[in-house]
Amino acid sequence: MRVLQLDVESIEYSLVKPESEVYEQSDKKRERVEDAVALFVCVEKGDSEAEAKQAVDDAVSFALKQGVKKLVLYPFAHLSNDLASPSEAMMLFQTMRKLAEEKKSVEVFAAPFGWNKRLSINVKGYPLAEQSKSYGKNAVKTKKAAERIDTSIVKKSDWSGLPENDHRTIGEKLDLYSFQEVSPGMVYWHPNGMIIYNELVKFMREKEAEYGYEEISTPEIANVALWKVSGHLEHYRNDMFLFESNIGSVGLKPMNCPSTMLIYKTRKWSYKELPFRTAIFDKIHRSELSGVATGLFRVKEMTQDDGHIFVREDQIESEITSLLKMIKEVYGVFNMKYTAKLSTMPDDHMGDERLWEKATSALKSALDANKMKYELKEKEGAFYGPKIDFDVYDSQGRAWQCATIQLDYQLPLRFKLEYTDKDGSQKMPVVVHRAILGTLERFIGILVEHYQGKFPSWLAPIQVIVVAVSEKSNNYAEAVFNDLKKSKLRVKLDNSDRTIQYKIREAVTQKVPYIVILGEREEANKTLTIRSRTGVQKEMNINEFVKLVNKEVAERANTTSF
Ligand SMILES: [Zn+2]
Repeated sequence: MRVLQLDVESIEYSLVKPESEVYEQSDKKRERVEDAVALFVCVEKGDSEAEAKQAVDDAVSFALKQGVKKLVLYPFAHLSNDLASPSEAMMLFQTMRKLAEEKKSVEVFAAPFGWNKRLSINVKGYPLAEQSKSYGKNAVKTKKAAERIDTSIVKKSDWSGLPENDHRTIGEKLDLYSFQEVSPGMVYWHPNGMIIYNELVKFMREKEAEYGYEEISTPEIANVALWKVSGHLEHYRNDMFLFESNIGSVGLKPMNCPSTMLIYKTRKWSYKELPFRTAIFDKIHRSELSGVATGLFRVKEMTQDDGHIFVREDQIESEITSLLKMIKEVYGVFNMKYTAKLSTMPDDHMGDERLWEKATSALKSALDANKMKYELKEKEGAFYGPKIDFDVYDSQGRAWQCATIQLDYQLPLRFKLEYTDKDGSQKMPVVVHRAILGTLERFIGILVEHYQGKFPSWLAPIQVIVVAVSEKSNNYAEAVFNDLKKSKLRVKLDNSDRTIQYKIREAVTQKVPYIVILGEREEANKTLTIRSRTGVQKEMNINEFVKLVNKEVAERANTTSF
């Protein structure tokens, strides 16, 4: 319920015509009251007598405090867009009138409900905002809006004073991303950072296509009914963003699994069609870890290179084997080593313990068959199944948990998933949840520190900076720049008036793989002098150079060619 409470010199209204299906009959077409408290009342969905009583009590005591003896109740629908039905609103409005009259401490007037009225008020000198109130479920929202607009948090998070090798410091220098206090724990991707992000997604899309995945996408928001079926409401509630909306109680998805189950369920499946491998790059939201500022390493809004595979039981081992191969290939590209951990049933778990045992032993035998050593983590599995997590080691020797493979008998059970087996019987598939890079935001943070900003050509936001030795070579530099751009290299031109030494120093701080240095000699020879990030210089023609960079990108080479 929302109300606006005004101390008025006078209030006058006249009835024009009924404006809703339900309205109160009234013989009195005009009313004028002087020296009164006017209470404009807007009844919202879900309001009850409790809110009505509170509003009346407050208005009457406000009137008495002002030394006013009259109260005018005035139905006023314009204070909210979450209105109760007209008949409910009218009933509650009439209840308020009755409650106010019962108090006998003020004289009560009530403008009839459901009419289009002409209104004129003359307010005493009180600030209006202080007199507007909200009761019931919307109370908190309104109180906040009524507070003075506070813009002090509309600013970038301050990362000064962090070590040079921290991904936040490097990210700021290379203009990759920022965090803003209005979106705690969520990333603002700048153009340079977005290039890295998109290149990683492109890489994983290629890998997934190679391994037979099909990409899907599902809504960010779903009614809580979905999270009840999936068990998230019971086991994951504290980490979810849940809120009331005009489509009911909803939650932002904290995981992609439940909505993926819904896609599987839209049709019948034959044993021949499994495994069905889905990949998804949607954003997910988790409200965990509040207030911890660790940049990209802990975020509340994230994207995983997530995937769910629907398999028959007899396919589990071969599918895990194929995943182990995929993980090896992916981490090989970044030159990162990793180790495996097998986590078993936690205390807070869903489902039958026999299924847990079955799932755990399936993972064990796949690891053993692939001669993959692993550490056993008792009771650290997900609530729906056991899992293999992979610790990845960066250039600084630190371990990061990234890839994960989780076996799940519970979600298929809860969502009643089926396929038709060879003999025509209906069987339940098993779901494998898996992510290879894990959370992209976090993985990019790891990569920034792993490479210390010196990205290989395929990831580097700027692959090449072109500089002219002097003004005389500006035209040649611009022509080379345009040709490189046409060849789809990510290239920048420095044609400023600064000295060549300064320009090169500046390009070096950008950690670009290659600097193209052009003077009169290069122009005469129609060549380029290329200085790689390692400091080595070579002269070659433009086609050779483009070929060299393209080869590095195609191979996703980890280092520059010279
Ligand atoms: Zn999942």
